[in-house]
Amino acid sequence: MTNSINEKVRCLIIGSGPAGYTAAIYASRANLSPVLYEGIQPGGQLTTTTDVENFPGYPEGVTGPELMEDLKQQAARFGADMRIGIATKTDLSAAPYKVTIDGEKVIETETLIIATGATAKYLGLPDENKYAGMGVSACATCDGFFYRKKTVAVVGGGDTACEEALYLASLAKQVYLIVRKPYLRASKVMQERVMKASNITVLFEHNTVGLFGEDGVEGAHLVKRMGEPDEEKVDIAIDGFFLAIGHKPNSDIFKPWIETDEVGYIKTIPGTPKTKVPGVFAAGDVADPHYRQAITAAGSGCAAAIEAERYLSEMGK
Ligand SMILES: Cc1cc2nc3c(=O)[nH]c(=O)nc-3n(C[C@H](O)[C@H](O)[C@H](O)COP(=O)(O)OP(=O)(O)OC[C@H]3O[C@@H](n4cnc5c(N)ncnc54)[C@H](O)[C@@H]3O)c2cc1C
Repeated sequence: MTNSINEKVRCLIIGSGPAGYTAAIYASRANLSPVLYEGIQPGGQLTTTTDVENFPGYPEGVTGPELMEDLKQQAARFGADMRIGIATKTDLSAAPYKVTIDGEKVIETETLIIATGATAKYLGLPDENKYAGMGVSACATCDGFFYRKKTVAVVGGGDTACEEALYLASLAKQVYLIVRKPYLRASKVMQERVMKASNITVLFEHNTVGLFGEDGVEGAHLVKRMGEPDEEKVDIAIDGFFLAIGHKPNSDIFKPWIETDEVGYIKTIPGTPKTKVPGVFAAGDVADPHYRQAITAAGSGCAAAIEAERYLSEMGK
């Protein structure tokens, strides 16, 4: 059964992270009367963190929730229509594009800005939740600075894990790289760099089964050669535990129409937020396997709104 159109808009923004709110600020100031749907996590990933010290304009730092509330208020000031709701289905076969909200309401839009972010993968241990923001992180660039001259562990065996381990090794005293397999999946060059770093110890064939600590992470419970006859329990003392086992871009509902890479990151025309579908743009982490930072997400949200405005003006709409 096809739902009928409930509303027509010129610019629809899906997602309320730094990319979505920044797109809303620019689109509303350009008179596009944007409608934004916040999704399941209003304010996006930064609402799950405390200190953000690297977003320009806050010399003393700011908490994630405060930063996101500021961005929201700024968008509201220019009249952006921000609503609670989740995009559940899309039809981008032809303009105007149709987006279903909460499985019910269908919005027809001339331009669409996809800013649905990406979700870091975790091991699924209850301790990851217990110590969230208290020593567990999925972003070395964001949180590495808090672990200067301390001891940290990175979980993962791919290029990202090696990159994160090397980045942390430049700040921390000691880095453990916890690898499930007896080898690294990372490229040869990354493997070599990791092996050469004097303060990185690679723990091959180790699984993390828990974390411990009083007021934050003080160590990890590992099992070496788990399930084998010579299985061995190993505890390491650490101050921080970094996940680097990948991200899942929130792009599933756009996939029938929009090109993604093998992981699910939306492919845009290099240097722009344009997808191959005219009038459909992607901004922030959902289209960014490389940087995944609040400021880069905000920057691409700005670019997406500018492109949406240009597209509408070229189409005479
Ligand atoms: C714990 C933590 C700490 C971090 N610390 C820092 C830091 O210090 N500095 C820094 O620069 N970066 C930091 N980051 C990274 C930063 O949060 C992200 O790069 C940034 O939030 C990406 O912004 P975004 O707008 O692309 O998406 P997100 O912030 O991921 O937001 C995605 C939005 O899309 C919405 N959404 C998803 N699917 C749908 C749907 N179907 N319908 C409607 N809405 C939908 C969600 O509800 C959410 O509002 C941190 C990340 C984490 C997890």
